[in-house]
Formats: sequence, structure tokens, C-alpha cells
Amino acid sequence: MKPSTDSLRAWIDIDLSALVRNGARLAQHAGVPLLPMVKADAYGLGVGPVVRALEAVTPFGYGVATADEGRELRGVGVTRPVLVFTPVLPLDFALLRAAQLTPTFGDAERISAWIASGGGDWHLAIDTGMMRAGLRWDRMAEVAELVRTAPPTGAFTHFHSSETDNGSLELQEGRFRDAVSALPARPPLLHTENSGAIVRRSPSAWNLVRPGVFLYGVGSGPRAAFQPEPVAHLRARIVDLHDLNAGDTVSYGGSWTATKPTRLATVNVGYADGYRRSLGNSGTALLRGTRVPVAGTVTMDMTMLDVTGIACAHGDVVTLIGRDGDALVTAEAVGAACGLSPYEVLTGLRQRLPRVSA
Ligand SMILES: *Cc1c(COP(=O)(O)O)cnc(C)c1O
Repeated sequence: MKPSTDSLRAWIDIDLSALVRNGARLAQHAGVPLLPMVKADAYGLGVGPVVRALEAVTPFGYGVATADEGRELRGVGVTRPVLVFTPVLPLDFALLRAAQLTPTFGDAERISAWIASGGGDWHLAIDTGMMRAGLRWDRMAEVAELVRTAPPTGAFTHFHSSETDNGSLELQEGRFRDAVSALPARPPLLHTENSGAIVRRSPSAWNLVRPGVFLYGVGSGPRAAFQPEPVAHLRARIVDLHDLNAGDTVSYGGSWTATKPTRLATVNVGYADGYRRSLGNSGTALLRGTRVPVAGTVTMDMTMLDVTGIACAHGDVVTLIGRDGDALVTAEAVGAACGLSPYEVLTGLRQRLPRVSA
């Protein structure tokens, strides 16, 4: 049953059944188990409900960024493998073992330290073009001996431009194949694809896929083979209504001026909630399924909307991200209106907004 939002000024509705349908769609398309990426509190949506819901698609395990995030997953009852995808320092080794987390390593020094401190499950990080983390694809000789001593359970790489058709995905994958064949033995679990790469082909050429943003409702652009359902819906209530005369200006800086008699609604959400200040005069919200523009600068706790001609009252709910009836404001559209990627829009939603999942 959906928890009540009657007493909330602003919140994020998390549609867990849409999340699960997005996951099932990806798993069916890829033909291999998912390793859902749930780092950064499941991209800001709330990791506990997200992993409980994703159990429905029987994932192989989960991916996080840090050892602490992995420990948090154990805390909410996850017993599947949990991979930590940023390089961990030896200071985290004790925590990794205590929480039975799987580190990813891409340098001989850390692999040696891991073996020396007791070893355990690990995956080899191969950098094929990101130049961010992992061992360069053409340097496998540096770890060949260690890989023989303590074979990794998996090896992976990460694409830098999975949603663009510039040949880089094929180039990186070729490098990954070369790197894997240069190892003394093929690690059992190979994985390369993030959301953008998963939707581009079927089935996967590897053993697992690592979707992130698609699960949470963000697609790979209008040309993608299929689209996710929206999952996160940012709602806020109208807390004030004003009738403006032509010539009245709105908000800090007076950057919006009424050109005619105007009905203005103040909604209780602002940049301290993660609804960015730069959405002033460029964002669009939904009220009763109708698009209403942001008027003037977004302030810390309040945002003004031009609702002229739409019947509304104090307490009515406005949608700033997500679906209202047949209308939809995607995280991509919000990002485009304020110069952010949809990843930043979702992960930028602050803790002041309760996550209400159903
Ligand atoms: C975040 C991340 C992903 C998921 O990327 P999306 O574009 O959100 O699908 C996959 N792999 C790694 C290593 C990541 O860090």
C-alpha cells in the first residue's frame, strides 16, 4: 500500500513497479543476469526499497561505488555479491572482508596487498579508454603472475560513450577482448555494458550487464531501441497563490515580468531540495496534466509557476519531474533546461525530500 503523502510539502514518488519493469526489460534484452548499479543511494532514489524491489528480477548481485555503500547494502539485508567499483585503498580491506564485498582492482600493488592480507573474491578492472580506473588494456603482463596466483572471479571494462555511434564502443570492446586473451585464463564473469550499451544490442556478448540510469527511468536518447518507464516523480504542493498585474516582477532579481494579469502559484520546493536555481525562467512543471512554466528565479525553498487560466488551490500537487496524467517531464528535459545531465538531476535531489515508494 502506498504511504500517505497528505502531510508532505514536497516529496519524490518512487514507482518501484516501473523500476522492476525497466529491469526485466533489460534482462530480457541482454539475455544475461543483471548487476544493477545502485551506487549513490541508487542514483538518489533510495537504495533500500530499490534493492528490495529489484530482487524480483533475480539479479546476480549489485554494484556500488564505495565500501561504505556496500556495507549499507548488507545492512538492508542483501546477501548477493556486492561489487565495489571505485578503486579501494588497503585501509578499506578490513571493511571489505567484514561485509563480504568484492573489490575491483587494476594495479599489481593493490592486488598483491589483497593477496597478502588474506585474498578473496575480486574482479580485474581493465581500462580500455576511460583513463579513470583500472589497468590499461595493453599492460596485462603486469598482473599475469598475480592473476595466476589468485585468479579473479571476473574482469570488466567501462565505456566512455556508450550512447553515441562514434565507433568507440567497438574500439573499447576490441581492446577488452585482447586484454582478456592476454590473461593466463579467462575469468568466469566478464562484463562491459552499462545502460547505453545494453539497449544497443541483444543478446549481450558477456556474462553480466551493469545497468544504472535506465533502471531509474532515464533512456539513451530518442534514437534508442526502447525507452524506460519513468520511476522518480518530484512533487510539491502549492502553498500560495497571487494575482499579478501587468508590470509586476517575480522573485530575486525581478527577472520575470507579467505582461498581462497573471495567476502565480508558489510551490514548496527550491534549490535546497535539488530543484536547481538555473531552472528559473526555463523549467516547466505539470499542474492537472498541463505544462506550466517556472516564473522568475528558483529560490532556496520556493518556486513560482505561471498558472494563469488553470483552476487550482492551496495544497494542490504540482509535478516538477515525472508524470502527471498523460504529460511527462523527464529528468533529461529538466537537465536540458538547466545545463545538467539527467544523472546530476537525479543524484542532486536532496534528503529534505522524502522518498515515497510504492
Ligand atoms: C555507474 C556505472 C555503470 C552504470 O552506468 P549507467 O550509464 O548509469 O547505466 C556501469 N558500470 C560502472 C563501472 C559504473 O560505474
